[in-house]
Amino acid sequence: MSDDNMKMPKFSEIEYKRPSVEHFRECAMSTRLKLMTARDPEVVESAIMAFQREMSAFDTAFTICMIRHDLDTSDEFFNSEMDFFEENYPVISDLSAGVYTALLHSEIRPQLEEKFGTMIFRKTQNQRDIVSSEVLDLLAEESSLENDYSQILSEADILFKGSHNTISTMTPFLESTNRAERKKAHRAVSDYYAAQKPKFDEIYDKMVKIRTEIAHKLGYKDFVELGYKRMERYDYNEEMVKEFRDNVVKYIVPLTSEIRRLQKNRLEVDHLYYYDLPCLFVHGNPVPVIPQSEYFETGSKMFAQMFDKEPSFFQVLGEHDFMDLFSRQNKSTGGYCASLLDYGIPFVLMNANSTSDDVATMVHESGHAYAALRSIDSSQFIECLSPTLEACEIHSTAMEYLSYPYMEMFFKEHADAYREQHMTLALLFLPYGCLVDEYQHVVYKNPDMTPEERHAAWRELEKKYQPDIDYDGDEFYNKGGAWMKKEHIFTSPFYYIDYCLAQVCALQIWDISRKNRKKAMSIYDHLCTEGGTKTLIDLVEGAGLESPFSLDVMKKIAYQVCDYLNL
Ligand code: ZN
Repeated sequence: MSDDNMKMPKFSEIEYKRPSVEHFRECAMSTRLKLMTARDPEVVESAIMAFQREMSAFDTAFTICMIRHDLDTSDEFFNSEMDFFEENYPVISDLSAGVYTALLHSEIRPQLEEKFGTMIFRKTQNQRDIVSSEVLDLLAEESSLENDYSQILSEADILFKGSHNTISTMTPFLESTNRAERKKAHRAVSDYYAAQKPKFDEIYDKMVKIRTEIAHKLGYKDFVELGYKRMERYDYNEEMVKEFRDNVVKYIVPLTSEIRRLQKNRLEVDHLYYYDLPCLFVHGNPVPVIPQSEYFETGSKMFAQMFDKEPSFFQVLGEHDFMDLFSRQNKSTGGYCASLLDYGIPFVLMNANSTSDDVATMVHESGHAYAALRSIDSSQFIECLSPTLEACEIHSTAMEYLSYPYMEMFFKEHADAYREQHMTLALLFLPYGCLVDEYQHVVYKNPDMTPEERHAAWRELEKKYQPDIDYDGDEFYNKGGAWMKKEHIFTSPFYYIDYCLAQVCALQIWDISRKNRKKAMSIYDHLCTEGGTKTLIDLVEGAGLESPFSLDVMKKIAYQVCDYLNL
């Protein structure tokens, strides 16, 4: 999005055309040939840039198709176009891998590294380290198991208060201010999972074995090693992550016990049971006081003030239809921000439904959108525009904290309650995220554990990270079943610690913003502008923050959050 918005297209007016796989193949082949024979960096550059344009066009077509499909899942045309991409994306990835391999093996690689930077080479090498033709069948099996789990969950039908519910429509009941109702709701959810337990155990057992087999075939000791490679962890390792989790146990877990003690007093109950935990306030969690119809205008004003720029990026995106905020029939659930690379414009999709999550989600996705706009010129390579996932989540999570001073615009007199809730949830999340992470280390280091042994291992770890949880005799949870509710454990192994690392970095930005707003904004902007040109710790330190693995940082964050929440 350039400064002259006159030329910016409206999303609704962008034409969609199915890209040609044949054309892509020809281009990939000829690029590869040029790279293999070229002795002149200029020739390589022009060849690889031409190929980048093809990749960008293909990806842009896919993104337009995905968004139009998500905006109206009943649209037959985009439904079948999605099938086209599902079928052909692996072909495109394979062809691209061939091109990049030629780059990796170029005789003039030192000159090319000088010209392009080393990041694209590291990424290419990493890609080669995680797949080989030998494991393609196993990868297909792995992804089919992931689909099985998601499919079962999406078909969940929980009968509650006389009506049929999905997992997500149960959420308001789980947070209900009526204790008897939320107890019943929690029991209904636990009954659902208990009934699925044999199927989920079978799926997970197969997943663990297949992932381990893939790791062995690729030459790794276990799936932990491969999992770290898949998550592109270039500058930190297992020991550092373990130390991070230990720091959370030492400095954050005690604070969560204090949060629970205060919550118990606030709810006026003698003892907190697991079904009380999601209900933080006697009168329920704060919801926006303005109607949904005012979200856009209010958001536009907020971001204009925050960045001292009128109109704000948020307003410009919205006015050009690059935003779809509200829940409706036939629209995909959830929220995301996806970039149309050819246009350099991000699209924000979410499903506001007048709950307390609306504002945090809108701000979160806008953080991703802001970063996408700021990093558009950071690299010649589309692969390097966006950083690894933990760093992306700093963009979005930090924006949530930077929006604190403006929350009166959405919550009026409830703004303090919103901020308290938001910070409380952030703190409670850290031990949970580490629990999910350590569990997966245990599982993949001991791939021959039986399902029952896995459940027992989870229950033990729960006592370390969530010492205050009391399952009130619920058998499913008491035997260690709660991990089955976390989709990432099944579908995105080792992803979860990324949110914790991002949280600690975002909290540093929050801490700085309390003393020096201008400095916090400039650190934030710097981080976004760098895109994916560096690895996590280089990005964070380059922006003037400390590594999330630092013990001092953890102590400082714990101290400041304590102060903020009056713990
Ligand atoms: Zn995010």
